[in-house]
Amino acid sequence: MDDCLFCKIVSGDVPASKIYEDENSLAFLDISPVNPGHALLIPKEHYKNIYDTPDELLANIAPKIKKIALAVKEAVNADGINIGMNNDPAAGQIVFHTHIHIIPRFEGDGHNPWSSKKYEEGEMAEIAEKIRAHCNQGEL
Ligand code: AMP
Ligand code: ZN
Repeated sequence: MDDCLFCKIVSGDVPASKIYEDENSLAFLDISPVNPGHALLIPKEHYKNIYDTPDELLANIAPKIKKIALAVKEAVNADGINIGMNNDPAAGQIVFHTHIHIIPRFEGDGHNPWSSKKYEEGEMAEIAEKIRAHCNQGEL
C-alpha cells in the first residue's frame, strides 16, 4: 500500500520509535500519546482493520499485545493498561492499517472512562439475540 503511513513505517520510509519487531509484527510509540509510552502494535502486512485481518494473523499477534502491554507497564510504571482498537471512522479510526493501541494509564491521569447508556425495556435481550444469531452464522 503506497499511500499507507504504517506501511511506510514498516518499510522504514517514515521514521518511528520502534520498540518491538518480529517476522509478522511491529510495535512503535504513538506520536500523539494518550500518556507517555502509548504504543501501537501492527501486522507488517497491510490490512485495513480487524474485519479483513486473517484469523491466523490475529492469533499470531494476540500474545504480542500481552508482551508489549507488560513491557510498557514496567517501563513507565503504569498503574493500568488499556488495550484498544478503532475500526472504521465512526469508532475513531484515522489510520487504515490494522493497529492495536496499548495505552498506559495512571491513577488520576485525567482521562475519563467511556460514558454509558441505559437499555430500553426488552432492548438488551433483543440485541443479544441478534448478536447470537450472527455469531452462529458460519461465515463470521
Ligand atoms: P486510530 O485513530 O486508531 O486510527 O489511531 C491512529 C494513531 O496513529 C493515532 O493515535 C495517531 O496519534 C497515531 N499516529 C499517526 N501518525 C503517526 C506516526 N507517524 N507515528 C506514530 N504514530 C502515529
Ligand atoms: Zn498499510
